[in-house]
Amino acid sequence: MRIFQMSICTRVIFLAAIFFLVGRLNASIGDSNPLYRSCLEQCEETGCIGNRCFQDCPSSDVGSSNGSQSIQKPCYMQLIQWDCRSECRYHCMLERERDNEMLGLGPVKYHGKWPFRRVLWIQEPMSVVFSVCNLGMHLLGWISFCSLLYSKLPLRPKDRKPYYEYSLLWHAYAILAMNSWFWSAVFHARDMDLTEKLDYSSVVALLGFSLIVAILRAFSVRDEASRVMVAAPLIAFVTTHILYLNFYKFDYGLNMKVCVSMGVAQLLIWAVWGGLSRHPSRGKLLVVVVGTALAMLLEIYDFPPYKGFVDAHALWHATTIPLTYLWWGFIKDDAQFRTSNLMKKVK
Ligand SMILES: [Zn+2]
Repeated sequence: MRIFQMSICTRVIFLAAIFFLVGRLNASIGDSNPLYRSCLEQCEETGCIGNRCFQDCPSSDVGSSNGSQSIQKPCYMQLIQWDCRSECRYHCMLERERDNEMLGLGPVKYHGKWPFRRVLWIQEPMSVVFSVCNLGMHLLGWISFCSLLYSKLPLRPKDRKPYYEYSLLWHAYAILAMNSWFWSAVFHARDMDLTEKLDYSSVVALLGFSLIVAILRAFSVRDEASRVMVAAPLIAFVTTHILYLNFYKFDYGLNMKVCVSMGVAQLLIWAVWGGLSRHPSRGKLLVVVVGTALAMLLEIYDFPPYKGFVDAHALWHATTIPLTYLWWGFIKDDAQFRTSNLMKKVK
């Protein structure tokens, strides 16, 4: 199989993606347990687990009238589909996990996911926190990039625009990256069809665009016509793929192949360019490339959430926060480097 001909880096990323996507598919050990199944069946029928009843279940009023504790929740929660089925799944899972713990057994997955403890109806609180931190880090990086471009570096006298030829590309990249982390936070807060599609589509758009930026920067493509020739087929491909996922078939396997190919391609482009070029900031670039590949190992050693909160995936999102800081550091250094080179030519 072709995987054996790949480099170690490619293999790591390929395996990471497989584990990441398999982790999101449905059937797992936890939900095939007969005790879990019977708890679910009973809960959906009676609306209660023990003396805890859920208001969305058809028979939950029976439970509350005979002295059981009925779970009241804010009405906006109905919008994000915390219905009878999801409440039953969550509480049956907690019950099974309590029993497992007493028997000295470790946590198992339910419906493709580790047993997370929710906070204020947020499913994976730590992944949400780290996604928001990533978003914040991109925002800070982008603001600092803009302040460097427009108030610290010289501007072209005729149109007051930056000398740096890749500034517009990085602005678009920043917006796509923040959009992607926003939907990542939403998806980890509540995993539904819509939030999953928005998260996956945003990641595809970001990966596609960052591949275009990698090609344009590494090959110093500066004139408009050549940029269009590089970008147009990639934009067409990414758009078709997003439309296919959303309106034809949500194919995890195909999406994995597309994302891995685009991710590996750009990491290789940056790694080779960083290794060959005499860019003053190539050290930062290589740390980001190697760091990103290593961070993906966390997806391979997919461990359950510690105390129901921090799992490997959440930690993976945590590791990209300092990498994002370094990444914007590299982008700012590149802007400074290119501007000073262009200024020398102007003089
Ligand atoms: Zn995530």
